[in-house]
Amino acid sequence: MDMPIKSAESLDLFVNARQQFEQALTWIDSIKVGIIDYLINPKRTLHVRFPINMDDGSIRTFHGFRVLHNRVRGPGKGGIRYHPNVTEAEVTALAAFMSWKTAVVDIPFGGGKGGVVCNPKELSRSELRRITRRFVAELGDNIGPHTDIPAPDVYTDAQTMAWIYDTFDLMHPGENNLAVVTGKPLEIGGSVGRDQATARGSLYATEQLLKRGVVPGLQSVEGARVAVQGYGNAGAIAAQLFHEVGARIVAVSDSRGGIRNGAGLDPQEVLAFKEKTGSVVGFEGASELSNEELLVCDCDILIPAALECQIREDNAADVKAKLIVEDANGPLTTVADKIVQDKGIVVLPDIVANAGGVVVSYFEWVQNLENQQWDLEKVDRKLRKKMNKAVDDTVDRWTALNARHGEGFNGSSVGPTLRDAALVTAIERIATVVLQRDIWP
Ligand code: NAD
Repeated sequence: MDMPIKSAESLDLFVNARQQFEQALTWIDSIKVGIIDYLINPKRTLHVRFPINMDDGSIRTFHGFRVLHNRVRGPGKGGIRYHPNVTEAEVTALAAFMSWKTAVVDIPFGGGKGGVVCNPKELSRSELRRITRRFVAELGDNIGPHTDIPAPDVYTDAQTMAWIYDTFDLMHPGENNLAVVTGKPLEIGGSVGRDQATARGSLYATEQLLKRGVVPGLQSVEGARVAVQGYGNAGAIAAQLFHEVGARIVAVSDSRGGIRNGAGLDPQEVLAFKEKTGSVVGFEGASELSNEELLVCDCDILIPAALECQIREDNAADVKAKLIVEDANGPLTTVADKIVQDKGIVVLPDIVANAGGVVVSYFEWVQNLENQQWDLEKVDRKLRKKMNKAVDDTVDRWTALNARHGEGFNGSSVGPTLRDAALVTAIERIATVVLQRDIWP
C-alpha cells in the first residue's frame, strides 16, 4: 500500500504532519483503531485576541494561539513563535511534532505549541513586552509547570521567556514558578547549554547517524561540506558547531538571502557581521545566492534551519546533499520527502534532529523543580546520551522495518524512511501509555 503521497502537495503544515503520521501507521503492526483520531488531533486549541497600546498612541488587536496536542506522557511542552504567518494549522502541526519528539527522545512531556500573529521586526521592545505579558495573562492557567510549558521558537528568545516567567509569577505569588517556561536567562533559572542545545543536539545526532553508516558516501562530519538555511538560534549555532568539528560551511542564509564560499565561511565572523548589519548578506569574501539556490547548492549536508515547507515538489529533485538534517520543524513537504528518498538522499527527521532544544528544556525544568544548577559538562554529557539513544532507537527500528519490508510487510513499493521509523517509535510509545493509563472513565 503506497501511502499517502498520491495526493497533491499541500503547504499546510498540519496536512503534511497528518500525511507523515498516516504513512507511519502503515508500518505499525497493530494499533487500537479508536485511538488514532486522539493521537493525531490536538487535545485542546486556544485562540486569544487582545488589544495592545502601540508606541505611536494607536491600539492594535493581536491574535494568539496555544495548542496542547497531547499530554498523556507528561505536561505539554513546546515553543512560542512570533511571526506574521502564524496560523492555527501551523501551530497545531508544530504541537503534534512536539508530542512525537518528546516521545522519540523519551522525556516525560507531551506536545504543545503557541504563536502570536505579529511581525517582531516592526515592533519595539516595549511593544513586544506588552504583547507577551498580555498573551500570558490571556492564557491564564492553561500554561503552568505541570500542565503546559512554553519555550523559545522563531523570533522569541530568552528575554521573551523572562517576561513569560515574570508575568506568570505575578499571577501565582508564593510558589516556585520557574518551571513554567524554559529557555530563560541563566540568572533566573535558565540552564547552561540551552541556547546551544538545538544545534548541539543536531550535531550529536548527525555524528551518531554517520557512525551507524546509513548515509551512503558520507562517513563523518569532519571534512563534509555543509549548507545552512536560516541564521538564528538553530542555524547560526549549528554552522558554528559543525565548523568546530571540521566541517566546511559552504553557504548560509537568512530571511534576506544567502552567501556562499566554496572554500568555507567562518561562522563566527558571519554572525558578527549579521549582528552588526542585520543580515548575512553583504559579508565580505563570499558571493551572494538566494535561499532557493542555497537549498540546491553543492554540499554534503544540508541543514534547513528556518521555516517549514522550504523543500517542495518544485525544488526537491535538485537537492544535491547526501544528508538533510532537519533543524527546522517540517522543512520538507511529504511530496518532497518522497522525491529525495527516491534520489537516495537520507533525511534525519526533525523530531530527532532538532530535539536537543527540548531535551535541555527538560533538564532546565528538572533543575528548576529541584532548585539546582548543573554545569555545562553535565548538560552536554546527558544531551549526547539522549541524542545518541534517539538516533540508535530510530536506526534500529528502521533496520527492523527494512527487513520486514523485504519479507513483504506493508506492501509498499518503497522501504521505510528514518522519519517513518522515528514516528513509529513515537506513536507506539504514546499509544502504549494511553492504554496503560486506560481510558477514563
Ligand atoms: P530564530 O528566530 O532564532 O531564527 C530564524 C532564522 O530564520 C533567522 O535567521 C531568519 O532570518 C531566518 N529566516 C526567516 N525566514 C526565512 C526564509 N524565508 N528563508 C531563509 N531564512 C529565513 O529561530 P530558531 O529558533 O532558530 O528556529 C528556526 C527553526 O528551528 C524553526 O523551524 C524552529 O521551529 C526550529 N527549532 C528551533 C528550536 C529552538 O530551540 N530555537 C528548537 C527546535 C526547532
